[in-house]
Amino acid sequence: MPSSPRAEMPEVFPTVQQEIARIAGLPEVRSALAWLRAQEPQFAHWQLDMARIPAPPFGEKARAEWLNSRFRELGLEDVHTDDVGNVFGVCCGSNKRCVALSAHMDTVFPAGTPLNIRQQGNRLYGPGVSDNGAGVTALLAVAAALRAAKISSSMPILFVGNVGEEGEGDLRGMRHIFSNPRWMDSIRYSLVLDGAGSDTIVAEALGSRRFEIIVRGPGGHSWSDFGAPNPILVLAGTIAAFTQMPVPSSPKTTFNVGVIRGGTSVNSIPESASMRVDIRSTSMAEMERLEASLRHSLEQAMREESRTSERRTSSQRRSTGLSHEIVGIGSRPAGELDPNARILKVIRAVDAHLGNAAQIQRASTDANIPLSLGREAIAIGGGGVGGGAHTLQEWFDCGGRDLGLKRILLTLLALAGIAE
Ligand SMILES: [Zn+2]
Repeated sequence: MPSSPRAEMPEVFPTVQQEIARIAGLPEVRSALAWLRAQEPQFAHWQLDMARIPAPPFGEKARAEWLNSRFRELGLEDVHTDDVGNVFGVCCGSNKRCVALSAHMDTVFPAGTPLNIRQQGNRLYGPGVSDNGAGVTALLAVAAALRAAKISSSMPILFVGNVGEEGEGDLRGMRHIFSNPRWMDSIRYSLVLDGAGSDTIVAEALGSRRFEIIVRGPGGHSWSDFGAPNPILVLAGTIAAFTQMPVPSSPKTTFNVGVIRGGTSVNSIPESASMRVDIRSTSMAEMERLEASLRHSLEQAMREESRTSERRTSSQRRSTGLSHEIVGIGSRPAGELDPNARILKVIRAVDAHLGNAAQIQRASTDANIPLSLGREAIAIGGGGVGGGAHTLQEWFDCGGRDLGLKRILLTLLALAGIAE
């Protein structure tokens, strides 16, 4: 191709890759990265301190107070805790749009769980030490590094320690943030820090819907009341019909009947029976289709059991009274990041710059909420290595944490821009 004068001109819009190299080469950023490497003892100290404060689902208050104090110590502005318990602090920038850097504070462990948080060499042990001790520590480390190196971003950075990510928490902290017009309108990018590691990018939000189905009937004696409608048979019929429903492998969609309860004795027609069903998919449409199929299967099984019961029972002894209830016990929206999203280009370029190999993953994290709203969001780890998440044997190895922190800092600065 003949070269034109235009092609000789320097590129006006540097590629994302060049932009990352430029940011990483700035003296203040180099100083922040060096600072992060030198501060590991402080980071481990924060992590142990925080993990010693219980934070069961719906019981994050004490940990939120601890984080609120750390945010103040680090000089963040407008530090406050909202009415559900999310802790906020802002740094730099005057732009109306901001970048949110968040980490959930809650754990899966119920109140009263013995924590026994301890350090042996490079390793930290105890429930919640990695999930999400690693994420919250990374949040503090980044805030501290920006301050130490006097870096000011163009867009403000909103630091958030949120409640309710795990289990029955059902993403309530993030939901609350994105239902507040103040944050809904201002958050341009969401970078969620969850657990340890530097090798994943969660860009697909795995959605889930969970239900408890309760069926009640008149009950009775297995011999003398034979023919009365049986709630266990209704559940059996529902399961038989529902589980025949084909599910696609892409978008991956799954279902599970995880708990089933009912009845009192072998010679009693049960008065009630219940089961818990879990539906998951990256596609909202698939989850809706499966939910509709579950409801339809239940209605059908109810009708069949009533009809069978009528056939078996003499007309004068006919007892109806079969009823059902479907209770939602969890709902996490699904969503997928646009493959051309800037946040994805940025994290990919940061990984290339650092020589870090990372895989795109699908998971259920706080990023589900912004992703389901069509916003740019990813979830990544807080560095280091962790294991035994959601068990009492949970551990975190601090070795290599600085790689994860560098990755977070460069991504954040590329998204927020650096004030000249
Ligand atoms: Zn987590």
